[in-house]
Amino acid sequence: MFDKVLIANRGEIALRVHRACKEMGIQTVAIHSEADADAMHVRLADESVCVGPPPAGKSYLNIPQIIAACEITGAQAVHPGYGFLSENARFAEIVEAHGITFIGPTPDHIRMMGDKITAKQAVKDAGIPVVPGSEGAISDIDEAEKIAAGIGYPVLIKAAAGGGGRGMKVAENAKLFRSAVQTASSEASAAFGDGSVYLEKYLGKPRHIEIQIMADTHGNCVHLGERDCSLQRRHQKVLEEATSPALDAKARAEIGAITRDAVAAIGYRGVGTVEYLYENGEFYFIEMNTRLQVEHPVTEAITGLDLVREQILVAAGEKLSMTQDDIVFNGHSIECRINAEDPATFAPSPGKVTEFHAPGGLGVRLDSALYAGYSIPPYYDSLIGKLIVHGRDRPEALLRLKRALNELVVGGVKTTKPLFLDLLEEPAFVSGDYHIRWLESWLAERK
Ligand code: ADP
Repeated sequence: MFDKVLIANRGEIALRVHRACKEMGIQTVAIHSEADADAMHVRLADESVCVGPPPAGKSYLNIPQIIAACEITGAQAVHPGYGFLSENARFAEIVEAHGITFIGPTPDHIRMMGDKITAKQAVKDAGIPVVPGSEGAISDIDEAEKIAAGIGYPVLIKAAAGGGGRGMKVAENAKLFRSAVQTASSEASAAFGDGSVYLEKYLGKPRHIEIQIMADTHGNCVHLGERDCSLQRRHQKVLEEATSPALDAKARAEIGAITRDAVAAIGYRGVGTVEYLYENGEFYFIEMNTRLQVEHPVTEAITGLDLVREQILVAAGEKLSMTQDDIVFNGHSIECRINAEDPATFAPSPGKVTEFHAPGGLGVRLDSALYAGYSIPPYYDSLIGKLIVHGRDRPEALLRLKRALNELVVGGVKTTKPLFLDLLEEPAFVSGDYHIRWLESWLAERK
């Protein structure tokens, strides 16, 4: 096992990784920007290294500085968290070239899944259901138009290199098809330096359901069930739950097994998430994330497992600590992403936290790097905490969420807490009957 791990991230996820390391007897090294010298992840880590000025491009994405920090401190492995360099195949390669272990999949798997076209082909070959569409990138527009007509409008044009919903355009009908392809392609070129686009059937009111998998380097692979992340705004997840209100045990076992077997066939290692859209009882692959996800705690809540611990075990060459038969899903869990934002306009609200009180009690977990007196810097993501509740069933989890939200105090900045309290009064949310476009229409109606 490693003696020392460098955590190449900040905020709540840096703390999350630190906690797993400490429970495994591993020393931690924090990295930080000049803006984060007083951050909680720096205070808790055994050692810390400043890697550059506030902008992430100069600090948390600064590969040479991060490698230097490993060498100075003697860290044997790097955990990238999520975001920043977590899905950067080049970073994983550079880390390994320095004889340091990258806690994550191989660079080849990161690269394969980072390109949506190669990802879709690879998972399709391994038996995963995909959205009907073009075979690979669109090269001939006349041909593409025929495929679109065959699929039926509306169709979606997506960027191969896409991320964060950019480079995506809906063509409502044949007349709008060519211009939609052009817009998507030029947006993709500008954002990602790659204008390749492909075509998919546009699903109207699907749910977003994703399967968590874990694999070791000894041929063991398990699935940990699903998370329902259908509550989204601008393609960003706002609240996640496990299990999904839309799946029964049989559907869960089926899609879980298909996903696990496909991921095992690809030879994947570490944790990963296969994301699907789910409509009329059918699953359609949209992408695979080759990292730990923000919403992993809801899976931890219902399985009792520590996903970061398993990541570290696998990276050290050990076996997963469980088999599929050991995995039991208990109760229901919900996570709210508490952002430092105006709850109505979603404008960022950085600044000094004057008061802070974390909720507690049975079935409540708050993953956050906040403390009273801390100044939330304006340079990074606005996520300041994740409130995770667990109950014996969904109604109990909802009651607990309301109780815990009411206990949470964050003074001095605006947060999205009121949004969640309002959602808890909303029958469609309470009944679990919502889809990926529901939240945006609900927000639009409230204006
Ligand atoms: P990104 O990497 O940019 O987030 P994804 O492929 O994960 O791209 O898709 C982001 C979101 O776009 C999905 O969560 C869903 O809301 C929507 N989306 C993607 N593919 C389709 C589709 N075929 N039909 C309808 N909506 C889609």
